[in-house]
Order: sequence, then C-alpha cells, then structure tokens
Amino acid sequence: MESDGLDGFDYTQPLQYALSQLTGGYPTEDEQFANVHFPKPSSLSAMAEEDDADRPPPTTNEIIDELVENVDNYPKVVQTMMQRGLLKKRQQCRKCNRMMHLRRRKTCYEWRCRTRDKKGDCSSCSIKYGSWFELTKLSFKIIFNFLVMHCKNCSTGHMATMLKLSSHSVNEMRRIVYDLTDRITAKYGQIGKNKQGVYMELITLQPRKGSVNVYKVLAGQETGSNRCFAVVLSDSTTATFERMKNQYVDPQAHITMVKTLNENDANIATVSAVFFDEEEYYHHEKDRFFTNLRQNHPENVFSNFLTLQCWLNDQVVRKTEGKMMLEKCFEELRTYIE
Ligand SMILES: [Zn+2]
Repeated sequence: MESDGLDGFDYTQPLQYALSQLTGGYPTEDEQFANVHFPKPSSLSAMAEEDDADRPPPTTNEIIDELVENVDNYPKVVQTMMQRGLLKKRQQCRKCNRMMHLRRRKTCYEWRCRTRDKKGDCSSCSIKYGSWFELTKLSFKIIFNFLVMHCKNCSTGHMATMLKLSSHSVNEMRRIVYDLTDRITAKYGQIGKNKQGVYMELITLQPRKGSVNVYKVLAGQETGSNRCFAVVLSDSTTATFERMKNQYVDPQAHITMVKTLNENDANIATVSAVFFDEEEYYHHEKDRFFTNLRQNHPENVFSNFLTLQCWLNDQVVRKTEGKMMLEKCFEELRTYIE
C-alpha cells in the first residue's frame, strides 16, 4: 500500500502552539494550524475528486464564502480549492511522468513522486504548483485577504498594517494580482460595437516629481455602459494613435474625442476634443474612469512602460466589473489550471 505520508508529521506542533498561548506570543502560521484536523492526504485527494453531480455547481460567490469561512482551516481550504479548480487536484511528475501523491509535511500538504524502489523521492513540488498561487510564497489566508482588500481599492499603507506585511511585500503582491487583471483585459473585446457611442481621451501622465518619463495614454469608454480600455502609446505619432484606436474600438463606433480637464493639453495637434464633465455625470468618484486615470495613479507606476500598462489594466477591470471585480478575479484564477 502507498504510504499516506504521515511519517513526516511533526507531533511537537500542538505543544508549540500551547506554549505560544502561555507566553502570550502571536502564533506563527505553523502554530496556528497545529490544532486543525488534517485529513490523510489520500482522503483529501479523494474528497477533492468527488463531484456533486446531483447539486448545481456553486456560484463564484459561494466559493469565495466557503473559502473565507474556512480560512483558518488549511486542509479544508486546500480541499475546496482543488474541488473548485483553483488548485490542481492531480499532478504529474516532471521527471518520470507518473502521477504524484499528496503528502503531509508538518502543517501543509505537498506533492511527491516516490522512486520506484520507494527508497526516496523522485521529485516533489508545492501544492500551489501549476496555479496562479505558485507566484507567491504567502499563505492562502493572506492572499485571500489581499485579494479582497485590493478589489476594495485599499491603500498600500492600510494593507501593510492589516496584513502585517512590508510596503515592499504589498507592492510585490500587487504585481502578482496584476497578472490576473492583465489576463482579464486581454479577453475583453473591442468597444463600440453596433454603432455605439464611444468617448475617447488622450491623457498625458507624468510623475508629480520630475518629468523625465512622460507617457501618453489613450483611453475610451462606451457611452451607456462601463466597457472601456486604456493603453499607453509607444510614441505621439498619429499613426500610433490610429493603430491603437483601431485595435480597441469597433470601426462602426461613433467616437467623440473628449477632455475631462478643461485646459489645453499639448496633445496630438489634429485631435480636437470637447469638454466632458465627468463629475457632473458620475456622482461617485470611483466611477469617473478618465479622472481616475489622470489623478489616482501611484508614483511607482511610472518606473516603466509595462508597469504603467499593468496599472491601467487594473483600472479597466475595476471600471468594467464594478462590484463584481473580486468574482471576476476568482473566475480568472481557475483559468490557470488547465
Ligand atoms: Zn517521478
């Protein structure tokens, strides 16, 4: 019979947890999970495989609820994530192509492939391997909290305090979330189909301090909907402007060039724009797409062209999805598992 991997179990963990409680210390993650029931790895895989064919599949919101409710129960979180397509429920060994088995290591599970003579490991890998989660070493609990706070548009400082992370780690994690929003925007189609109206603005962005990097951004929003786009232009030529317009906007669309700031911007000379008072139109600040692009960018987005584009994509997803942004992100997470 295949070993269930419990030979790696560290029985001292509950004691460590008890000690930390006695001394009033803040339990580390390992200690926090020490008194959580860990099912045998083999039964965990089996539970993840169960398909409840008689019940309708849960909505994304129900999946998020289930994860949040069990966030302190690591085995349950892993099981749910496997069941709902957020983690791989099967893993093939990269060395010998055989199917790997789950093993418990202290307070986590991992995949391993035993050598044929069962004397050692052929290979092993994290439970996160082959999913978006492998991009970070942070725990699922912190990652889920991070996603919720990111979608709620919390500031870096607030997130650092709440999640006990450095600002540097918050920014690192944000870059990983940008991978999600990049993929989401890549799947949005052109706006302005069926002769819809489109408001388009050419926006000049530059850091508040110093003006070394000046960027031109072309942004557009469909009238009567939240569908939109925003793209950094590689140069200020009319050819680039036209090329990007053709990529993001349907040729049949009725385009109105607008400016949301009532001042002269030294933009492409041939583009004449009418003033569009977004404040009048959208009472909530967060709904003002063009104004947010102009005003709410953090300074670090100007480090290079790609960073700025990532931030723009995040803004486009925020505007397009609105309150559904978190759900959209979770849906995208499932596309990492093939
Ligand atoms: Zn192997």
